[in-house]
Amino acid sequence: DTAPAREAQRAAAARHVPEGLPSSIQHYIDGAFVDSADGGTFDVLDPVTNETYVQAAAGKEADIDRAVAAARRAFTDGPWPRMLPRERSRVLHRVADIVESRDARLAELESFDSGLPITQALGQARRAAENFRFFADLIVAQADDAYKVPGRQMNYVNRKPIGVAGLITPWNTPFMLESWKLGPALATGNTVVLKPAEFTPLSASLWAGIFEEAGLPQGVFNLVNGLGEDAGDALVKHPDVPLISFTGESRTGQIIFGNAAPFLKGLSMELGGKSPAVVFADADLEAAIDATIFGVFSLNGERCTAGSRILVERPIYDEFVKRYAAQAERVVVGYPHDPATEVGALVHPEHYDKVVSYIEIGKTEARLVAGGGRPDGFDEGNFVRPTVFADVAPDARIFQEEIFGPVVAITPFDTDEEALALANGVKYGLAAYVWTNDLKRAHNFSQAIEAGMVWLNSNNVRDLRTPFGGVKASGLGHEGGYRSIDFYTDQQAVHITLGPAHNPTFGRADRH
Ligand code: NAD
Repeated sequence: DTAPAREAQRAAAARHVPEGLPSSIQHYIDGAFVDSADGGTFDVLDPVTNETYVQAAAGKEADIDRAVAAARRAFTDGPWPRMLPRERSRVLHRVADIVESRDARLAELESFDSGLPITQALGQARRAAENFRFFADLIVAQADDAYKVPGRQMNYVNRKPIGVAGLITPWNTPFMLESWKLGPALATGNTVVLKPAEFTPLSASLWAGIFEEAGLPQGVFNLVNGLGEDAGDALVKHPDVPLISFTGESRTGQIIFGNAAPFLKGLSMELGGKSPAVVFADADLEAAIDATIFGVFSLNGERCTAGSRILVERPIYDEFVKRYAAQAERVVVGYPHDPATEVGALVHPEHYDKVVSYIEIGKTEARLVAGGGRPDGFDEGNFVRPTVFADVAPDARIFQEEIFGPVVAITPFDTDEEALALANGVKYGLAAYVWTNDLKRAHNFSQAIEAGMVWLNSNNVRDLRTPFGGVKASGLGHEGGYRSIDFYTDQQAVHITLGPAHNPTFGRADRH
């Protein structure tokens, strides 16, 4: 029962194509599924074979114009922004109910389209429902401030939806990341145009039916598929879209930042990462290994918060590397639909090529201790073995650059200062993981780390009330909890004089 034999066995298992796949993927504009104005389409691939399984409508400027016009009408004339929070909340709770009741089907389609392991896709579908439920509750609990100066003045905050929100999302956990923006954007009374990632458009089109069934008014949710440089670009440059919430690569974030600048749009950016997991010699080694294995190999390593650099204190370094490599070799690579699979197929051949090229670069820069190529028996599709490099120098490309696949770099350190310099020595600052049982060191170290989120002796678990976002090249602004409500609303301050007016008297006749 060797690892290659197990791999070959899994590769021989039948692959799975879900029943009832659509014959085409369209846009959804003003309550109807439509093709592109120019009839254009692009290929969507099955990551297990890289064969085209469906054509999706390739949106361009004309399609974005139609979608924004519909969303704009729904905003200026429709009921949604005018509904009471508890009325909107009821619709969003129904969305959560529907998503929950279809979680298995959603997971099946998502796993097929993206290559994510089915058990993890199921968790993501449930998280999408939770996102809707959370914002449905938050919007009714939201109490805005009123300030009173006794006998004189009263001020209050009038929280208003902003208008048409442009939502641009990536292909890793597509449905869940869409819910993360749709939930708060809709809860606060905005209307939306969603531009999902072109590698994985299948699950996004399911929102249309879910929203219709839940009673979302026509025109509030609009979906335009297409390439980033066409549909995404047109959405960012549309004058009637005052805010853009974007999740994707840092490089794309820079382009969007530039294109949104002339309009001074509201921007929220969740970008790339190269997050460190710092393991001190006093840490609970088994827990640290389990968590750091999961932290980089779950979701196929296609995870923005992946702990893709592990920094290990010298006294435990050799043992850590040995145990980590052995455990990584046992991580189960397999077909996405197989419940035993822990790492499925990477999303797309372009992305596969990128990840494999980094593995080749790694072989010239560091010591390969696990994985390093295709698993046995998987001759087609985007399968990669969980890959571990040790003795990785801080100037190595596999230390500095986001790979976004099941590849991890391990580096030793001798002092806290060195660990901190290594942790902070990249352009990114999304997440960090710290493993130590020394309370003071844990807190001091966490505070000095340049990261938007720190997990201390803890796995990647997040309460929905906490802020989510990165520093440095990992993002701009934070969403999550009431910070999402802030991003998707204007907070207008209204000032009223109640008592005797304290008015200026410039130019009054009785003063001269
Ligand atoms: P990407 O930047 O290539 O694409 C993201 C989205 O932007 C897609 O819908 C794409 O079509 C669109 N897009 C591309 N060019 C555009 C342009 N010029 N104008 C407007 N839209 C454009 O990213 P990806 O490869 O889909 O996703 C992977 C990246 O996302 C990784 O870097 C990962 O770290 C990051 N990510 C970050 C978070 C986070 O919360 N910080 C979460 C998930 C993924």
